[in-house]
Amino acid sequence: MDAATAAAYHVSLARSLEAGAAVLSKGGRSIDAVEAAIQVLEDDPLFNAGRGAGFDDQGRNEMDAAIMDGATLEAGSVAGVSATKNPIALARAVMEHSPYVMMVGPGADAFAVSQRLPQMPPSYFFTEMRWQELLGVLRTQGKPLPSRPPGVPAAPRAMAVSPMTIPHRVAPFAHRFGTVGAVARDVHGDVSAGTSTGGMQGKLPGRVGDSPVIGAGTYAANDACAVSATGVGEYFIRLDAAKEICALVKMKGLTTSAAAEHVIRGEVAKLKGGEGGVIVLDQKSDPVWSYDTLGMFRARQVEGGAAEVEVK
Ligand code: ASP
Repeated sequence: MDAATAAAYHVSLARSLEAGAAVLSKGGRSIDAVEAAIQVLEDDPLFNAGRGAGFDDQGRNEMDAAIMDGATLEAGSVAGVSATKNPIALARAVMEHSPYVMMVGPGADAFAVSQRLPQMPPSYFFTEMRWQELLGVLRTQGKPLPSRPPGVPAAPRAMAVSPMTIPHRVAPFAHRFGTVGAVARDVHGDVSAGTSTGGMQGKLPGRVGDSPVIGAGTYAANDACAVSATGVGEYFIRLDAAKEICALVKMKGLTTSAAAEHVIRGEVAKLKGGEGGVIVLDQKSDPVWSYDTLGMFRARQVEGGAAEVEVK
């Protein structure tokens, strides 16, 4: 990645952290901090979530998101939404304004309309960078290339592709960078978690990853911890990875760091093709992360301390 792109990611992560910290420093709830931090990243085209989401193999956006309140164990999630500007806000609305935990597809977008959550055309979510990445994935897989979504600028004659966007492996799960997530603890000691993603580039329509699956990619319970995951969703779902980390903290008394390392570097990495990372926070210690991917852009801040932002 060139220095300008790295700097842009840095700024965006710092802004997301600030949005969460602004809620918490006013005595706000961790669930509000999580939603605020994630919305900043969803609105930023750099990330594979909300604006900037990746595409399925038909060139459509199908976004997934989840949020969970560790104080009450209430949760909301959505999968395969294509028009809702902020899928994390929709997940929150499912949690608070419906009797359900999970909604999918056009029904979920329709619920967003009923909740007056902004809807956007495909051109809003489109970024040239992700589109070129998609074409690279589909070419590698020998699949037909979809036409560009309506209302987007004409294809550039030439495109400089950063190293990050070049598929580095011919594997079905190699193309899945840019998922966003947040965990937070508030003045009451309540923890919350949230995750939002466009999922795997070039996925089949209808494929759902771990991010919106409570317990797999997102989980929070005050008596254990809050977790948001990124990685190959199919492994995180089968291992119930987020809940597994929390179970190790709760039942075996592991630190969040030891539990995260055990699940990410042990259980996920042990499965062929499994890789990913998590951010984890409990009621007593500072936030931690663990990953075994090429990198995981991340940021954290504790009360009274400086913001720490890592773009690598
Ligand atoms: N976990 C996401 C999914 O499987 C992708 C990612 O985090 O990169 O959809």
